[in-house]
Amino acid sequence: MIGKRLLMIPGPIEFTPEVLAEMAKPTLSHTDPQFIEEFGQALEKMRKVWLAPNGQPFIIAGSGTLAMEIAAVNITEPGDNVLILHTGYFSERMADIFKLHGANVDIVQSTVGDLPQIDEVRKKLASKKYKTLSITHVDTSTGVRADVKALAAAAQETDTLVVVDGVCAVAGEELRMEEWGVDIAFTASQKAIGVPPGLALLVASKKAIEAFKSRKSPVGAYYCDWQYWLPVMEAYEGRKSAYFGTPAVNLVRALNISLGQILDEGMEARFARHARNAAAFRAGLSAIGLGFVPMRKEIMANTLSAVYYPEGTDASILPLIAKNGAMLAGGLLPAIKTKYFRIGHMGMSDASEILATLGAIEQSLSSAGYSFEPGASLSAAQAALMQP
Ligand code: PMP
Repeated sequence: MIGKRLLMIPGPIEFTPEVLAEMAKPTLSHTDPQFIEEFGQALEKMRKVWLAPNGQPFIIAGSGTLAMEIAAVNITEPGDNVLILHTGYFSERMADIFKLHGANVDIVQSTVGDLPQIDEVRKKLASKKYKTLSITHVDTSTGVRADVKALAAAAQETDTLVVVDGVCAVAGEELRMEEWGVDIAFTASQKAIGVPPGLALLVASKKAIEAFKSRKSPVGAYYCDWQYWLPVMEAYEGRKSAYFGTPAVNLVRALNISLGQILDEGMEARFARHARNAAAFRAGLSAIGLGFVPMRKEIMANTLSAVYYPEGTDASILPLIAKNGAMLAGGLLPAIKTKYFRIGHMGMSDASEILATLGAIEQSLSSAGYSFEPGASLSAAQAALMQP
């Protein structure tokens, strides 16, 4: 459709008509029985999406960065040792947050587009007592996906809490929070959860809540403090209202709709669809000679692709691609910022968005003078999508 532009950035994403319609409803009181019921349902559904049947969900107005700070500040006391798995821009942000709240931060580094070796992480964990290991599940700046299952298993050997920044992963990448032994996993509404920006969403394990309850010093951030939010979440789940900060009523109602759509699809089907869509994008982009920031196929995210501009082109193709129907994102990691772009493929996106996006990329590359066989990316993606 002329003028229709797909939002194919790594969040915010395209939202379903049902979610958008929910947002447009008149705002209810946060003490309205209907809202109390919907808030309670959303909390219950979060446990199912995170695959954490005994987890404590939190829905708090704010962006993903707030979720990062909530995770760090409630379980960290000044002087605690924290180990950060470095995969890009967002692991550095997490390190800054932990440091601000008094943690001694060590970082296991990796080169751009790669992951630190698991043995290196294991060695580091054994070298001194770390309270927390922090992992960015998918670093949105590089499209690198960490092996949360293996890392969490390593952390359990040393009784280290595992915090997962799942902002670009939850409800898209496979995450089995309880089975894998993850203690805090958080995201933000605008990513694979499929709700406009504005909610910080977090699930904490029993162990994380115990670590919070047994802390000796107060939490150093008022709005983040679980002592105020826990009673609110418990109240709404028990179908009563409670107040600390006014909930983002329309967003919470939209979240309840979106979580319902996610669970209707089913988590296994959802993980598989994200994997298939990512494979289709990769097949298409490879077919026209484009390369990826992540160094190996096994560490490439299913929620976004970070792609190098082909020879002779640069960020000036992005407005062309947008004009041709798909809004993509530029680079983010300072070291390679001008050399690559990013395509988000999470949430409800499917074949039609993939093929339309590849079509827009081909048209724009062609007008920028890059030569390839027209349609090659579309046919490779189509073949990948048609695999059983
Ligand atoms: N972590 C990751 C992995 C992210 O992708 C983002 C946002 N792109 C954030 C944290 C921060 O989220 P927000 O922009 O909503 O504050």
